[in-house]
Amino acid sequence: MTSAAFPAFAYQGDTLHCEGVSLVSLAEAVGTPTYVYSRGAIEAAYRAYDAALAGIDHLICYSVKANSSLGILDVLARLGAGADIVSGGELHRWIAAGGDPAKVVFSGVGKTEAEMRDALAAGIGAFNVESTEEIEVLDQVARAAGVRARVALRVNPDVDAQTHPYISTGLTQNKFGIAAAAARDAFRRAADLPGLEVRGIDCHIGSQLTKTSPFSDAIARLCELILTLAGEGIVLSDLDIGGGLGIDYGKDGDPPPPSHGEYGAAVKQALAALGDHPIRLLVEPGRSIVGPAGVLLTRVLYNKDNEVKHFTIVDAAMNDLMRPSFYGSHHPMRPVRATSAAPRTTDVVGPICETGDFLARDRALPPLARGELLAIGAAGAYGFTMSSNYNTRPRAAEVLVAGERWTVIRERETLEHLLRGERTAG
Ligand SMILES: *Cc1c(COP(=O)(O)O)cnc(C)c1O
Repeated sequence: MTSAAFPAFAYQGDTLHCEGVSLVSLAEAVGTPTYVYSRGAIEAAYRAYDAALAGIDHLICYSVKANSSLGILDVLARLGAGADIVSGGELHRWIAAGGDPAKVVFSGVGKTEAEMRDALAAGIGAFNVESTEEIEVLDQVARAAGVRARVALRVNPDVDAQTHPYISTGLTQNKFGIAAAAARDAFRRAADLPGLEVRGIDCHIGSQLTKTSPFSDAIARLCELILTLAGEGIVLSDLDIGGGLGIDYGKDGDPPPPSHGEYGAAVKQALAALGDHPIRLLVEPGRSIVGPAGVLLTRVLYNKDNEVKHFTIVDAAMNDLMRPSFYGSHHPMRPVRATSAAPRTTDVVGPICETGDFLARDRALPPLARGELLAIGAAGAYGFTMSSNYNTRPRAAEVLVAGERWTVIRERETLEHLLRGERTAG
C-alpha cells in the first residue's frame, strides 16, 4: 500500500490490516463486500483541518453526503464538527447521531418547503440559499413559522475548479448558486425581507480539487463582494468557502492534492483581502475527511480469460462502489494477502449484468485465486452513500475500526429489507 493513499491500511506480516485489525479476520467475521473505515484516519483528517485553520475563527461543517452513516457522523459530532447537509434526510441523520443542529448549514438547489420548516424547527445554523426564488420562499416559510431564518447566499464565482465536469460546480453553466452579477441585487432583496437574517456568503466550486488556485480565486471574488456589500450597509459575518479538497486516488501521473497545510495557507492569504473586516470562516469538506479512511473489502469469485482480456470477478460491484462506472474513477487496489507473484493486467468486475460494471480496467494486479481478498482503497467517500440495490443486491456492511477494536456500524442488508414496502396489485 502506498502510504499516501492508504494512511491507515498497512501490511502486518503478510496481511493487510486496518489499524490493528486484520482484514482477513474481518472478512471471516462480517463477510464481503464490506466497507472498512479507520476511526484514527477520520479523526486525523478533521484535526488537520482544524490545525490548518488555526488562528482564524472557523467552523468545519463536514459534508454529510460523502458518508452519512450514523457511526461516521458520531465520530465527527464528538470532535465538535458541524455539518453541511443537502436534504432533510441528512439533517435527520445528523441529529440522530447526536450532532448539533446549530452547527448545520443547509445547501442544495431544491429545498422543499417541508424541508425548510423542519430545518427551522430544528434550529439549524444557516440556509445556504441558491436562487432568488428560494429567497422569497424561505422568507414566507420562516414568517409563517414565526421565526427568522439565518441565511447565506450561495454565489457562483465562475471559477474553473479544473476537475471532472460532473463534480465541477462553480461555473456559470452549472446549476448551483446565484450568478455573481446578480448577487448584489439578491443580497439587497434578502436584507429587506423580515423573515430572513442575512448572515453570510457561500460558495462551493467543485470536488476533488488538486490545486489551491481555484480556492484562492473564489475567495477573492467573495471578499470583493463582502467589502462592496459592507459599503452599502449589508455587513456579513460568515464566509463559507465550501468543500472540495482532493485526495490521492493512487494513480500514477495524477497531481498530488494539496496538503491541509498548503490549503490552509492559501485560504489565509486570500482572506487577507478583507483587511480588518471581521469574519467567521466556514468550510464544508467531505471527501478529504472520510475518503482515505475507507476501503471496500471484496472477495474473488472467479477468474476468466478470453482472447483479449483477463477478468477478475469479485463479489463487490458497481452498485456497491459506483465511482469507477459513473466518473471513470481510479481506485487503488491491493491484495489482502501480500504476494510476490508477478502482476498481470486484468479487469476487476462485479456480478452485475452491465458492461459498465467494473471496478478497475486494465489494472496490473498479482493473480488472485477464487476466495482471495482484495482491498479497494480510498473508498470512504461517495462509496456507500452512492450505493444502490440494482440487481436486487443487498447493500454492503460497514465496519469502523479503532485500534484493535471494531464495530459493525451498519449490518449487511437482508432480502427482507429489500422487499420492505412493496406489494402486488393483485
Ligand atoms: C458535496 C458538497 C461538499 C463536499 O465536497 P467534497 O468535495 O466532498 O469536500 C461541500 N459543500 C457542498 C455544497 C456540496 O454539495
